[in-house]
Amino acid sequence: MNKQARIFVAGHRGMVGSALVRRLAAEGYPNVVTRSRAELDLMDQAAVNRFFEAERIDVVLLAAARVGGILANASRPGEFIYENLVIETNVIHAAYRARVERLVFFGSSCIYPKQCPQPIREEYLLTSPLEPTNDAYAIAKIAGLKLCEAYNREYNTQYVALMPTNLYGPNDNYDLNSSHVLPALLRKAHEARLNGAASLTVWGSGTPRREFLHVDDLAAATLFVLEHNVTEGLFNVGVGEDLSIRELAEGICKVVGFEGELAFDASKPDGTPRKLLDVSRLAQMGWRARIGLAEGLASTYRQFVAAHAGSLPATLQA
Ligand code: GDP
Repeated sequence: MNKQARIFVAGHRGMVGSALVRRLAAEGYPNVVTRSRAELDLMDQAAVNRFFEAERIDVVLLAAARVGGILANASRPGEFIYENLVIETNVIHAAYRARVERLVFFGSSCIYPKQCPQPIREEYLLTSPLEPTNDAYAIAKIAGLKLCEAYNREYNTQYVALMPTNLYGPNDNYDLNSSHVLPALLRKAHEARLNGAASLTVWGSGTPRREFLHVDDLAAATLFVLEHNVTEGLFNVGVGEDLSIRELAEGICKVVGFEGELAFDASKPDGTPRKLLDVSRLAQMGWRARIGLAEGLASTYRQFVAAHAGSLPATLQA
């Protein structure tokens, strides 16, 4: 990819978008274009069209989305399907109208069926029913990747879709009602330690298995795909290893230094039993994740304390 390319990172304040901006800066791409939500509402199609007509964008990285953990997805499916469909439709169509040739769309491993053979290969898409706790979000993300495929076929664009596994890292959401499991447990363990609590509550049974990718690895994979001139297709992005939620909780307690018990709250959903991605498609091209979970958890915990500890109640401040 030309170093002078004008690259629009949609969603640059989110965890994925901000990782992309950091990586692009580190790799020496000077022409990165961003807009805050106040400057450009991606739900407003006319505004998105005007933006693309004015800005002469060469590459779009579409990381803007409504995202959330299992409870947010299960309780607000209308927002998750509507906002994601509208954002991706507006951005992809406006990019095509403005003759943007290259675009990377970010989805999620929850697009794959609930009872999927493991590890999950890209071709298992749409082979059986989805996990009900996040089917609305998944349908929106499947629509986004199908938009890319359809536009490539009809209009000769080069729109690629990356499907990362569960992500974590800087600028994650630590709100306990809407976050994913890893940031939620980091925060709970931190607060439990500061409070001297006897136990920490983990939702569900602790038996579901998940895979965790540091968002800086996703940013690296994105640059890899762009720099290797990949022109179409769907690519899983993961580390190729998973662990149970119980094991994750134990690992987090160790990093945080919380020595109490784990309590499991069976009233909360488990979600899909397992979603380990088969990452051989990108591996065959020469890309693999580099940040191990132990290292990633330690750096993420340090960032969490630096960014959030000051906003915790005074009783919780170390
Ligand atoms: P999912 O991968 O789409 O299911 O999303 P999450 O990251 O929200 O949840 C993953 C698994 O972790 C589910 O089985 C949750 O029930 C479990 N889990 C355990 N404790 C928590 C918690 O405090 N917050 C969240 N979001 N999930 C938790």
